[in-house]
Amino acid sequence: MPLTRIEAGCDIAAVQRSSPLEALETRMLLMHALDLTRVQLITQSERKLNAGEAQRFTTLLQRREAGEPIAYIVGQREFFGLPFRVTKDVLIPRPETELLVELALQLQRTPLNSRVLDLGTGSGAIAIAIAHSRADLQVSALDVSPAALDVAQHNAAHILSIGGNALRLLQSDWYDVLQADEQFALIVANPPYIVAGDAHLGQGDLRFEPISALTDHADGLSALRTIVDGAASHLMVGGWLLMEHGFDQAAAVRALLVAQGFQQVQSWQDLAGIERVTGGIRPLKII
Ligand code: GLN
Repeated sequence: MPLTRIEAGCDIAAVQRSSPLEALETRMLLMHALDLTRVQLITQSERKLNAGEAQRFTTLLQRREAGEPIAYIVGQREFFGLPFRVTKDVLIPRPETELLVELALQLQRTPLNSRVLDLGTGSGAIAIAIAHSRADLQVSALDVSPAALDVAQHNAAHILSIGGNALRLLQSDWYDVLQADEQFALIVANPPYIVAGDAHLGQGDLRFEPISALTDHADGLSALRTIVDGAASHLMVGGWLLMEHGFDQAAAVRALLVAQGFQQVQSWQDLAGIERVTGGIRPLKII
């Protein structure tokens, strides 16, 4: 397919008419290329693009035509109403992951100043959304990727206002960096859960995302298993463990929790009606 080229002298309305992309995506790329707000884009619809602007917009358009996710092209994605920087080093936050944040904020009758742990934080979306809603909580966010931690650090600095709790960010392979007796009142995670070789990995946005944030390179449950097992040492008695998982993994994740003696084990549906988050409470004694 020949890639589209926008010539200098074309006005904003004409660009919108001739763009092969969806209207929303064209607007996002125009706002980014011309540094305009949504309102400016409307009020300046007759403004003509100069040569530099036409070139900048064409470059962005062609990246999108080649399949690159719009969030990577504009470097941002909104999650839980907050603007997160995203780069190719982190998974693009998904709307369904907001369910995990909502549950974390509802379920934990977590006392003031409790400690919360987010495993595999990536862009920091989950940890930062929680910390933003509950400034009293002490949130720790771990990731094995230094490049992802840089993105999370940027997001924490820009989204968590001064006076709010600074996020504690640490490089770690799941729980490894923690002290053996370090415990949290709530543990959340959106780990890689796609089965190795799944066809989805070769489709759409996923082709551009960090492979190790998507798949465990195994049966899809290995990271979830590691997280459940480690909760025996790092979750306080009575604390919730909440994990996002794939559309067909809820029963398997519930079984992992039941096998470890968790209580109130249950799954919750996302807006599409798919069981997307599963969790349970750590009992007094884990089997
Ligand atoms: N929800 C993502 C997808 O299927 C996968 C995210 C993950 O592996 N944690 O597109």
